[in-house]
Amino acid sequence: MDLSDKKVLVTGASRGIGKSITGKLLDNGAAVIGTARNTSFPKAFIDHDSFRGIYVDLAQTGDLINKLKVLFQEEEAPNVLVNNAGIFEDADFDIEDNSWLDNWDRTQQINLRTPALLSKWALNRWSNTGDGLLINIASRAAYRGDTQEYASYAASKAGLVAFTKSVARDFGKKGIAAYSIAPGFIKTDMAMDSIEVYGEEYLTEGMAFDEITSPEEVAELVAFLVSGKVKHMTGATFHINGGSYMI
Ligand code: NAP
Repeated sequence: MDLSDKKVLVTGASRGIGKSITGKLLDNGAAVIGTARNTSFPKAFIDHDSFRGIYVDLAQTGDLINKLKVLFQEEEAPNVLVNNAGIFEDADFDIEDNSWLDNWDRTQQINLRTPALLSKWALNRWSNTGDGLLINIASRAAYRGDTQEYASYAASKAGLVAFTKSVARDFGKKGIAAYSIAPGFIKTDMAMDSIEVYGEEYLTEGMAFDEITSPEEVAELVAFLVSGKVKHMTGATFHINGGSYMI
């Protein structure tokens, strides 16, 4: 796959799915701007001529404006945005309201508000260039819900899917496509807590396969979408969950 005409902004490129996506895109010739909050980028990325790393807290709007909005004002702006970074933090319904709302607001901020704002900046730029591709990493929780302590997470991801469909619907005539990806359990730090508590065997019960999906499989899918070969699937959600549900 030749992605040498793609310049991709990937949020959360330091670990997990975002790291795999970044590696795959670089391997296929794309230029990648990756973001992280704290974690250092892998040496292979830092040493790569086509990689640029930016440290930014996606919860801080001022930081976003200073470090990421400007990218879409540069002459060689990204023509692909992958909103990958996200948080998965629990809050039981029986905790006191302020703590519950803190979790709710923080989750919506990082998983929905910030991806929407980054998309807005990208879409405004792409509307002038007539070319652009948006990929939002949602979750199977958007479709099947989650346990009550992760209700904020499921709501944020369902919002992200609906947001993506609105973009696809309204920006197609400007040459822009938008997709959601809804992963099930993926073997990253985010899923590690559940893997450690419940064990891989329990988590794969009811799945078609008896192993948890690797982040590299999500990266393969992203690279294929970035290639632009299936532009007319705009608005679609791609489910990658080891067959835990099939729609
Ligand atoms: P992960 O291993 O926890 O990595 C999260 C990434 O997001 C890291 O690069 C992290 O940066 C960055 N990040 C988190 N909060 C940030 C903030 N406030 N500011 C800037 N960067 C921030 O997560 P993952 O498993 O790869 O998940 C990636 C995406 O897939 C998420 O949207 C997640 O909801 C979705 N997803 C994951 C699974 C799964 O089972 N893993 C399932 C469904 C959907 P630092 O390294 O600097 O902290």
